[in-house]
Amino acid sequence: MGGAVPFFVNATAGTTVLGAFDPIDEIANICEKHNLWLHVDACWGGGALVSKKHKHLLKGIQRVNSVAWNLHKMLMATLQCSAFLVRDKSCLLQRCHCAGASYLFQQDKFYDVSYDTGDKSVQCSRKPDAFKFWLVWKAVGTRELEYRICDTFPCLNYFVLKKKKKCHSQPEFANVCFWYIPPSLRNLPESPELWKKLHTVAPVVKERMMKKGSMMIGYQKHGDKPNFFRMVVISPQVSKQDLDFVLDEIHRLGKDL
Ligand SMILES: *Cc1c(COP(=O)(O)O)cnc(C)c1O
Repeated sequence: MGGAVPFFVNATAGTTVLGAFDPIDEIANICEKHNLWLHVDACWGGGALVSKKHKHLLKGIQRVNSVAWNLHKMLMATLQCSAFLVRDKSCLLQRCHCAGASYLFQQDKFYDVSYDTGDKSVQCSRKPDAFKFWLVWKAVGTRELEYRICDTFPCLNYFVLKKKKKCHSQPEFANVCFWYIPPSLRNLPESPELWKKLHTVAPVVKERMMKKGSMMIGYQKHGDKPNFFRMVVISPQVSKQDLDFVLDEIHRLGKDL
């Protein structure tokens, strides 16, 4: 589009499929230079912020204009608990969404009405998600939240090591994307034929695991890569034995394919 002027950049901290992180600092440098609004979709990866060891993945996030963060993902809040954080202090949300209904939102109250959220959101009645996360945080504490993030990763590394040769890419986060290659395909040379056959494997294995009721692991394709499993572990209570079971069960369900 000739003459179009960009005004907004959306970076992602933890993509849904691969768990990849954009380099926020570098993108922020460009956005600051050109006066662009920088938003970070940290819906999935935002959880890393509570971990001293992993928060570097979101380095630079304090510089951005807005952040979306789903606390119902890695941070244990039950569905749904989503935060949209804006740095703007000029009542942007109010200016965007307010209806100014005088029968609802009185301005002449005894307290600071800037704390009222009613006229700042798209809808009027809403669940107090912030309160829900506050309760989770109070109940388990910062350290417990941090342990939940940190203690999950050694388990994932174990899983990656076991699957090393068949991973889609080296994981940055809690997503391990991998192919299960049934014995009948193991000695075939890498070719479009092999990819085509491999593409049909994950859907069948998933159908079988669901019908048996033993587990449920999602799959999808990515670009020109055929269907692969996307394994996400977000609980430190998952043990190495559980992960062994996952791998053995996939083999049991798919070895005849
Ligand atoms: C989960 C997710 C979202 C949004 O999820 P909702 O269920 O719509 O809140 C957005 N971006 C990424 C990267 C996600 O993983």
